[in-house]
Amino acid sequence: MGGKKETHQFKTEVQQLMHLIVNSLYSNKEIFLRELISNASDAIDKLRFKAQTNPDILGKDSEFFIRIITDTQNKTLAVIDNGIGMTHDEVMDNIGTIAKSGTMAFLETIKQSKQENTLSPELIGQFGVGFYSAFIVAKKVTVITRSADSDNGVKWESTGDGSYSIEDVEKAERGTEIILELKETEKDDTDFTEEWTIRRIVKQHSDFVSYPVIMNVEKTEPIPDNEQIKDKDGKPVGETNRKVREDETLNSMKAIWARNKSDITDEEYEEFYKHISHDWNPPLEKMHMKFEGVTEYNALIYIPSKAPFDMFNQDRKNGMQLYCKRVFIMDDCKELMPEYLGFIQGVVDAPDLNLNVSREILQQDRLVNNIRKNLVKKVFELLTNLDKDKFDTFYQEFGQSLKAGIPTDFENKDKIADLIRYKTTKSNGQSISLKEYVDRMKPDQKEIYYITGDNLVSLMNSPHLEALKDRDYEVLLMTEPVDEWVVQSIPEYNKKKLKSAEKGDLDLEKVDEKKKDAYSSLFEFIKKSMEEKVKEVKPSTRLKNSVSCLSGEDFGMSAYMEKIMKATGQDVPKQKRVLELNVEHPVLAKIKTIFETDTKNPALKEYFGLIYDLALISEGGKIENPSKFSQAVSDLMAKAI
Ligand code: ADP
Repeated sequence: MGGKKETHQFKTEVQQLMHLIVNSLYSNKEIFLRELISNASDAIDKLRFKAQTNPDILGKDSEFFIRIITDTQNKTLAVIDNGIGMTHDEVMDNIGTIAKSGTMAFLETIKQSKQENTLSPELIGQFGVGFYSAFIVAKKVTVITRSADSDNGVKWESTGDGSYSIEDVEKAERGTEIILELKETEKDDTDFTEEWTIRRIVKQHSDFVSYPVIMNVEKTEPIPDNEQIKDKDGKPVGETNRKVREDETLNSMKAIWARNKSDITDEEYEEFYKHISHDWNPPLEKMHMKFEGVTEYNALIYIPSKAPFDMFNQDRKNGMQLYCKRVFIMDDCKELMPEYLGFIQGVVDAPDLNLNVSREILQQDRLVNNIRKNLVKKVFELLTNLDKDKFDTFYQEFGQSLKAGIPTDFENKDKIADLIRYKTTKSNGQSISLKEYVDRMKPDQKEIYYITGDNLVSLMNSPHLEALKDRDYEVLLMTEPVDEWVVQSIPEYNKKKLKSAEKGDLDLEKVDEKKKDAYSSLFEFIKKSMEEKVKEVKPSTRLKNSVSCLSGEDFGMSAYMEKIMKATGQDVPKQKRVLELNVEHPVLAKIKTIFETDTKNPALKEYFGLIYDLALISEGGKIENPSKFSQAVSDLMAKAI
């Protein structure tokens, strides 16, 4: 066959990424082999998953293997598998492009944070960039692959300098060969063609890979007695040993989850994590469990130490893998972990499962549902028992994801509520739990106060909090969109109601009735003149220093919610809010005087507008006509100064 050879440019993000990897991981070169072996193992997993419904695709080639071939003379190393392979299109899609959305933005942020082209593996770890790590050690990479679905092979080749070539070629066997032409080595560099080097790396990083990693090695064996050359006394005269070459499996293939906890070292746990997660950082915490009883199964789960950069991407895979008696069934097993815990990485081995189980069946499987329930319970146990430092790291990375469980996991929302943390008006930048909040509530305080918005500083200084601060009540400052859903889903915590500081009545103290009466006709008048903007004008119980603020109804939409909906392009019904005025404020007293002498005075309308704009500005909202506002303010200043 042999099709036309085409040359393509790498996508910009791929070039950037390769550059980063090669420059940042030179002190950690050998991990390229782990990455290639992991990819090979994944490719075999994928094939096996497909073969469950279509056994014919295996053909005669059903003994799975990963083979490493090195050539010391020519300085090459090849990793070969008989997994699912790739079609021409798949090669184009998978290598040379990065399909993950948000990649460019992510690379930009790390480019800004790195110094002189070095990058901590931690950041790259968020990515999982396996294949490209080949270019750390190779000056040229060749991929020859044939998909299980195709009769044609494809050859991809690149020197990693911006372009790659691709052409159709013949390939007899299904699977993929990755051939590295190694860079010249410096004197004290590791030689990746040496047998013992490969042995060591495979043992260290890929021991538990569930397919044999095979290498043809030289061995010394005794020459059988009858083949030895002997003298007349029967004593051997020549060699008694000889060198032979034979295939050897370098990894033990032992499923780590099926072993005894006490026999497993921390390093082994860590390597296994890196293998299944494609993360380059060590995990934050792990839990290895054996469940016995009606349903028996093993599980090994990990909490990563860093959130992947695309954690909130809809297409992101769930981190759980399902096995049955050590045989891989599927990855991305959403049935084993709810979406909001999708960042948990791990494996479950359930011997009672049907090997040919399909995703559709899994959803209704009682056993699987049971396992998920148990696992979620265990995750909460694990999180609850993390020490403070680890919990803080966890929360920083995954808190937002966890919160999403409150509106979606009814059964566990109380447990999640115990784990969430907020900064408050009194916490000095620390985040506290709801329990801590309740424990230090003032004796006369009945409710848990909170306020939502996207800017911590403006929330902290919001006029809505003035009366609360005056009473020394603490207020939770909620700054993530998901918090709007959190507060809707937990109306109370420890029997204390959650109460928005900007909605409904605060019930703190009653407004002086006399004052209220004195202002009622002015307020009526303001309401009439601003009817298109406000629903009501009333004396405020929230304000102490500011003259005005806007409040919503108890079950109305908060200003922040409105902002979020608008930002996501949703139709928001026009909402009128309540204009609350501070009857203790001198400005109001002056306006009242003007109003009482001349209701037709044109200044009144202007002042009402200003008061309204001030309320909007102080909650971080946008005013309709900023230049008119600043004109009005400078006029007033000119008069006052
Ligand atoms: P990741 O493995 O994290 O997805 P990689 O850059 O390592 O990222 O690989 C990109 C893609 O290329 C893989 O998702 C897979 O689809 C494909 N691929 C890589 N190696 C192989 C292989 N040995 N066999 C089949 N497909 C492979």
